[in-house]
Amino acid sequence: MATDYKNTLNLPRTDFPMKADLVSREPQRLEKWQQADLYAKIQASRTAAPKFVLHDGPPFANGDVHVGTALNKILKDIIIKYQTLRGKSAPYIPGWDCHGLPIEFKVSQEMRKSGSDASSPADIRKACEVYARKYIDIQRTQFKRLGVLGDWENPYLTLNKEYEADELRLFADIVAKGFVYRGKKPVYWSIPCRTALAEAEVEYHDHVSQSVFVKFWIDVENSPKEIRNLIPQNAFVLIWTTTPWTLPANLAVAFNSNLIYCFIQHETERGIEHLLVSTDLAQKIIEKAGLKNAKISSPNYPGYTFAFLCYEHPFIKRKGQLFAGDNFVTKDTGTGFVHIAPGHGLEDYGLGSSVGLPIYSPVDDDGKFAYMGDLPVEQQMPAEMIGKSILEKHGKSDANEAVLHELRLRHALLHQENYHHSYPHCWRSKTPIIFRAMDQWFIEIDHKLPEWIELLRTRAKEFVSSLPKSKQEVIGALGIDLDAAVSADDTFGGLRSRAVSAIESEVHWIPDWGQNRIKGAVQSRPDWCISRQRTWGVPIPAFYDAKGEAILDAQIVRNAADLIEKHGSNIWFEKSATELWSLVKPANWIGAEAVAKSNDTLDVWIDSGSSSRAVLKQRKELQHDKKSGDEVWQADVYLEGSDQHRGWFQSSLLLSLAGNGAAPFKTVLTHGFMVDADREKISKSKQGAYEKPQTAEAYVKKYGADVVRLWVASQDYRSDIVVSEERINKVGETYRGIRNALRYQLSNLYDFDPAKHSVPDEKLTGLDRWILGEFAKLEAEVLAAYDQYEFHVVYQKLSQFIAVELSSVYHDVIKDRLYTDAANSPRRRSTQTALHGLVSGLCQMLAPILAFTADEAWEFIPGKPTESVHQNEWKPKLFEMTKPEQEAWHFMIKYRNDSILPQLEQFRQMKIIGKSLEASIDVKAAGDYLEYIKTRTEELRELMNVSQLNIGILEERLAWNEAGKAVSNISKADGQKCERCWHWETDIGQNTEHPTLCGRCVEAVKQFKA
Ligand SMILES: [Zn+2]
Repeated sequence: MATDYKNTLNLPRTDFPMKADLVSREPQRLEKWQQADLYAKIQASRTAAPKFVLHDGPPFANGDVHVGTALNKILKDIIIKYQTLRGKSAPYIPGWDCHGLPIEFKVSQEMRKSGSDASSPADIRKACEVYARKYIDIQRTQFKRLGVLGDWENPYLTLNKEYEADELRLFADIVAKGFVYRGKKPVYWSIPCRTALAEAEVEYHDHVSQSVFVKFWIDVENSPKEIRNLIPQNAFVLIWTTTPWTLPANLAVAFNSNLIYCFIQHETERGIEHLLVSTDLAQKIIEKAGLKNAKISSPNYPGYTFAFLCYEHPFIKRKGQLFAGDNFVTKDTGTGFVHIAPGHGLEDYGLGSSVGLPIYSPVDDDGKFAYMGDLPVEQQMPAEMIGKSILEKHGKSDANEAVLHELRLRHALLHQENYHHSYPHCWRSKTPIIFRAMDQWFIEIDHKLPEWIELLRTRAKEFVSSLPKSKQEVIGALGIDLDAAVSADDTFGGLRSRAVSAIESEVHWIPDWGQNRIKGAVQSRPDWCISRQRTWGVPIPAFYDAKGEAILDAQIVRNAADLIEKHGSNIWFEKSATELWSLVKPANWIGAEAVAKSNDTLDVWIDSGSSSRAVLKQRKELQHDKKSGDEVWQADVYLEGSDQHRGWFQSSLLLSLAGNGAAPFKTVLTHGFMVDADREKISKSKQGAYEKPQTAEAYVKKYGADVVRLWVASQDYRSDIVVSEERINKVGETYRGIRNALRYQLSNLYDFDPAKHSVPDEKLTGLDRWILGEFAKLEAEVLAAYDQYEFHVVYQKLSQFIAVELSSVYHDVIKDRLYTDAANSPRRRSTQTALHGLVSGLCQMLAPILAFTADEAWEFIPGKPTESVHQNEWKPKLFEMTKPEQEAWHFMIKYRNDSILPQLEQFRQMKIIGKSLEASIDVKAAGDYLEYIKTRTEELRELMNVSQLNIGILEERLAWNEAGKAVSNISKADGQKCERCWHWETDIGQNTEHPTLCGRCVEAVKQFKA
């Protein structure tokens, strides 16, 4: 053979590698982005564009980036990259939460280890800052490695002095509006951490408590006259508690007015006793306590009968009375009587303060029994109890044991058992918290503002008038008067009701259950305890006068903010009270003079919750156009895990409403958690239980960031995400499919210049028009899914399209024309035009998710409009096909896949033909099927990849059903096999120069030589 025709084929070639090698190639691309200052370039190119602001919830500056935090950052980055691609200006300012206990703990531990025991607060704080900054650097590198683009050199840090100053200015506004008060109330207290805790710092865990039934002797003499004769001799109120250590603080007993009570008579070694209990629970009590010869007395009495009944404390010289506690005394468990210690529980506090009892809490900061000034010492616990600790070790505490000992000694303990329940624990030390009353600063959640009363009244009126006429009439008929209803509700117009209104009508929650979750959290929350007895935080700029009264004033807080902005918040810990007072005292101050400063810091949730003021309102690049209708600083999206309805979403909302007058966000997205194969949350504390560290780094080093990103996108993040090697490996296969498709497209564009060779839409071949039509449909679906934040739909649609339409149909069919047609033939250029459109479009669709791979592929696209895909503006390409054209192609593809390919396969197996090019097909069709194909003989032949195809008319009477409307008959093709294209043709041998080639190949070869 004279000519090696193989060299005349247009075989694919590209430098885009088949093997991804992400682990080593991604860092090179990061370096490239860094060198090119890609983030800044993108921002500069979007200065005039509409804004899209996703505000970053700050992770804690401690430890390596956990795989769950990686999920959060990747989701945010997908959104930002998508919005940027769509032409928006979408800056990303990452943040870090820097203050708080976990860091202070670690640092104090390290300082103790190195022997510096008596460090000053200022020294501890300096060490904490060094520690936080170290982890900010570590995490920054790890976040960047995930492909997350942002202003990493100018993040917001809650420890920055500018941030602290703005946080205090927001706080000053809230103080000025009257939201902040000092009160002695039971707060969550962590004994090991020696601090009060907020709602969000409390976790619920299963716990075994000591449940006890305790007898309180009834003092008939001192009880109201009218009930004295109801009380038998030697009678006791039987109370129930699961915290025996609170009994020294008992000041009252609560009953339920609506329950029925009776006496149980029973025999003891000391004679007959009578126990007053709930009738509903009497039988259970007899059984549990194993009472001897027990009888339930009749008559029964309603609970209110026993109001003001007097009893004696079982081991302290003190008397107490019975009060109604209808909303918390139930007949489900216990005895129908609840012991009340106003200093140790919220309900107890409520009842105690409503009847004028002292808020007595005989426990010190270390969680040990102590005398307090609220009662004379002789009315407090026995001296031997003082100093006993409440903190449990191995399920027991000295304080509980001491109380139980006293009760046994006095025969007051009727029954004791283990009680399993869910109990609040400290998020940091993981120990059970206690409720302990102490002076703290609070934000009053129901504090009202006049403008809110107005706003909410207007909204309520609008709501009523939006109801259908019939419902309005019902309201009218019921005589409901809105104004009367409003004035009867003493929380209307308060922060809580304002927040609920914002949750319902100003913010979009995705998924929609987020709305109920945060509404429930806001509706049920107590006042916000905002003071912490810790060192590593933003100081509360309060003072005390000579009488010990606290001074908290908005102007003082503002002056302190200015001072801190200049010098940093360490100044508060370094200077004396006198020095500070002289620096921040307002010129026109007429109040008391300060003699001491507050040593409390603000709850860290105030830090991160103030970012609306310190970041959204401050950073110029985050301001929306005034025309948007909302406040220019409001963020479009907050996106965090579902635990933030109690945490950051809520603290941000409450602070922004109170301090800025509007919600900080328009849309709140929530994602689930990373869970392991047992569907348990993967947490830092469970780390030891896993084979490898559950850090972002461990996954990136094994799979590459793009596979991790694709895996994140593939999961419906609205529920929990299961982390398993099996799932990631499956996603890895999809990744290879995507990469191969991109590579195939690029490898056939090596001689294509879109400016010179592009074919207009209407001149494209039918096959190319078909794939571009399908692609336009896909693009619309993908855009909609991105807009709905449904990335798993993007993943499904894209992977499906690449596997089916592209890989198993289009890429397969076009090989022949791409390789064997003359390089510049209209048919080949048409297909290259389509491939160019496909690969450009795919890179854009993939770029938000496969941040590295899409950018890598983009570089190989001839005539690409921008250096990086992330700079490009994605404008969807409309591709119109007529309905008949669409239907025809739909039929032909289906006919190929469902009918012809299986038949050819059968013939191959029967050895009638080898390759499908050895086949000739006769197709007979009727009706619309005939219409579809009669003008598309060559296109149908190409689609089947056979050498010959003839179309004939099928008699209508034979086409009796759908399946029979097109029939085919396969036979061996006529002619000979062309040496170059392997088609079987009848014109081979006609050209003397190339006697082994078909006519088409002769032309191609001639042009190749020229
Ligand atoms: Zn040929």
